[in-house]
Amino acid sequence: MFDRASVVTPGGVNSPVRAFRAVGGTPRFMVSGTGPYLTDADGREYVDLVCSWGPMILGHSHPEVIAAVQEAVSRGTSFGTPGEGEVALAEEIVARIEPVEQVRLVSSGTEATMSAIRLARGFTGRAKVVKFAGCYHGHVDALLAAAGSGLATFGLPDTPGVTGATAGDTVVLPYNDLDAVRAAFAAHPGEIACVITEASPGNMGVVPPADGFNAGLKELCAANGALYISDEVMTGFRTSKAGWYGVDGVRPDLMTFGKVMGGGFPAAAFGGRADVMAHLAPAGPVYQAGTLSGNPVATAAGLAQLRLLDDGAYAKIDAVSAELRTLVGDAFTKEGVAHTVSSASNMFSVFFTDQPVRNYDDAKKQEAFRFTAFFHSMLEQGVYLPPSAFESWFVSTAHDERAIERVAAALPAAARAASEATA
Ligand code: PLP
Repeated sequence: MFDRASVVTPGGVNSPVRAFRAVGGTPRFMVSGTGPYLTDADGREYVDLVCSWGPMILGHSHPEVIAAVQEAVSRGTSFGTPGEGEVALAEEIVARIEPVEQVRLVSSGTEATMSAIRLARGFTGRAKVVKFAGCYHGHVDALLAAAGSGLATFGLPDTPGVTGATAGDTVVLPYNDLDAVRAAFAAHPGEIACVITEASPGNMGVVPPADGFNAGLKELCAANGALYISDEVMTGFRTSKAGWYGVDGVRPDLMTFGKVMGGGFPAAAFGGRADVMAHLAPAGPVYQAGTLSGNPVATAAGLAQLRLLDDGAYAKIDAVSAELRTLVGDAFTKEGVAHTVSSASNMFSVFFTDQPVRNYDDAKKQEAFRFTAFFHSMLEQGVYLPPSAFESWFVSTAHDERAIERVAAALPAAARAASEATA
């Protein structure tokens, strides 16, 4: 299948992070998923610790989500008109996340951040955008500077195709460094439209914000007439019922969402202050649109998933994450592998270093070659991890004791492989 794919698709994949470029080998082609398991085209079953990079927070093929999708699809797949499903999903988002007074639905996280930035520029009449090295906000031209995720995986400093003019209004700063943000506002008075940050980064591995960092960003933005945009595409509806906002309570001007809110379908959103959202077409002058925005099947899946995500569900996910973090840490300790299990709520990843990781430069200092050996050993033993040392691991409510035991059984040999690996 990979040979076939490589003929008709660049690199054989439709999103670079799915390729095994960072770890070597052939990506697995999955044919089905049930609960915490994925099955590949050769019939091998894996415990899935990627969960489609976040969305599958209830596990695969959750019966209530599938039923909602089947019910919606039986009524048609797209109308190109307003519909009740999108209103219900927007109401659910607004009800859960207090700073979101109004929300616009789109089809991908990339569209959400792209649109939020356009809106911030339109609202403030300013051009510059501040982002942080190692934070990934989708493949928005202006934000593909020192981004994490696939760019971290491949070590690309930049991407051809993004012009100097586009990137020229982007100011890239080190993460967790409020002095750098202060200095940027001082260097560009009245020019910065917004600061965009991952609410808690998961695209350089998991690097949580230091105490007071997000609050400091909010304060600096407010003091300088810029908007504070919290990108919750990854953390939204995952790190708590109200995402990372539910964890740190720092009130953004705009927020972006994706992944979990689509229930495995292409649905994403941006929203926030009503006075800012009022600048969006057709209410206001800032244009933004989408043929499939608010698609009835995607919104049905998202709504069904969100309605199942109650306090009990988050308690379960947090407990699974805590158990796995302990198992993973113990396995490396036993083999004498220098490591840090870094977590933010139930998101976590392993850095192959015992030094603190507070930003992208720290993350890049890890011994990533150890991850390669670890990854392949886990894969051979039927555990599917993100194929990069710079990605978060994701768990779901479906990860039961049996699935956890399978991970536990695979860890000793994989940790040994990591300890024996050479650069
Ligand atoms: N923002 C963050 C924080 C993300 O993690 C991602 C994707 O991983 C995006 C934006 C882009 O979302 P999408 O891949 O749906 O375009």
